[in-house]
Amino acid sequence: MSKQELRRQVVIIGSGPAGLTAAIYAARANLKPLLIDAPADTEKQTIPGGQLVITTDVENYPGFAQGIQGPDLMVEFRKQAERFGTEFLEEWITKVDLQQRPFTLYSDDKIVKADTLIIASGASAKWLGIPGEAKTPAGFGGNGVSACATCDGPLPAFRNKRLVVVGGGDTAMEEATFLTRYASRVYVVHRRDKLRASKIMQEKAFRNDKIEFIWNTAVDRILGNEEQGVTGVHLRNLETGTETAFDCEGVFIAIGHKPNTDLFKDLIEMDAVGYIKTSGNSTATNIPGVFACGDVQDSVYRQAVTAAGTGCMSAIDAERFLDHLPIALPTGEEVTIEGERITPDHQKIILPSGEVVPNDAEEVR
Ligand code: NAP
Repeated sequence: MSKQELRRQVVIIGSGPAGLTAAIYAARANLKPLLIDAPADTEKQTIPGGQLVITTDVENYPGFAQGIQGPDLMVEFRKQAERFGTEFLEEWITKVDLQQRPFTLYSDDKIVKADTLIIASGASAKWLGIPGEAKTPAGFGGNGVSACATCDGPLPAFRNKRLVVVGGGDTAMEEATFLTRYASRVYVVHRRDKLRASKIMQEKAFRNDKIEFIWNTAVDRILGNEEQGVTGVHLRNLETGTETAFDCEGVFIAIGHKPNTDLFKDLIEMDAVGYIKTSGNSTATNIPGVFACGDVQDSVYRQAVTAAGTGCMSAIDAERFLDHLPIALPTGEEVTIEGERITPDHQKIILPSGEVVPNDAEEVR
């Protein structure tokens, strides 16, 4: 059977705050965006709606003075994108061709052609890579080990149990605090003696008398058996070198995230960790017509509101590009949809033929 082929002016990959904000802006600009959203899959760590869907209270998203639950916020984002005519496609993209425009995206049964592509595929939880952490049957993943307290914390296996949370950032504090609803006790194991988490999250965790901190310590191994699942962790004090077996029935890994950019490996410029490089002045990548927003390109701020902000920028950038206006690349050059390149000093235009002409245009920005 031949694959169904679609062609759109703006295609967005990802349905977190960045992707949905890009959709809202592109749809309002009448660009009829197609937003491709991978189906939920724990193995591939795909979460429609992004990481806010597995968060509880969001207290710092502007406009919600009393806070809002992460999943409720994402329902509103999605409704707003739908209201202006965003088209949604639930599909797992397996391959992309960014060599020429229109760009081509392949799934098992569809081919999508895109005049501009907005990558908003977000980030996924990182793992420690220690024995016992892998998915069952190789380890205890799914049988006492998790990277998502809000997804798995309420399961009967964790109720009234001793649980370990690994990490010292906001995610670890949030997960530990959330887990105290169910656990008998929560132990936060952190590799240093200071938390990375924001003050407010730290204070919440310190005030909670069900949470105990184990400082300067690494979890080297997760212990257990097939029948009972997790029965403990092997701890190593990083200052004294002392090793101990510590009893617990659940382990939540909360050590940060990595960008979901495997699909674009070797196709687009990334940093050493895999974050897509974008221009300081726009969300342009090194490929004219491909834009990146949210956690795939932000290793610094990583907030819902900054993801939404760059989502907005990427839709405006795509619109400018389709309107034949120049877009700033990470190199500082500007480029138009026709392939004209404007040098960083704005003095010259390099035509697609390679001919260099003076830039006589007046600065309009
Ligand atoms: P993060 O800030 O990068 O913190 C990761 C933590 O895990 C750090 O404490 C780090 O230790 C530790 N860690 C990393 N690799 C490790 C390893 N191999 N072994 C042991 N420990 C390891 O990540 P995050 O907590 O996921 O937060 C990411 C971003 O999301 C932040 O900007 C945060 O503010 C935001 N966020 C916000 C909220 C909220 O506002 N409600 C909730 C969650 C996340 P070191 O400290 O020693 O580096």
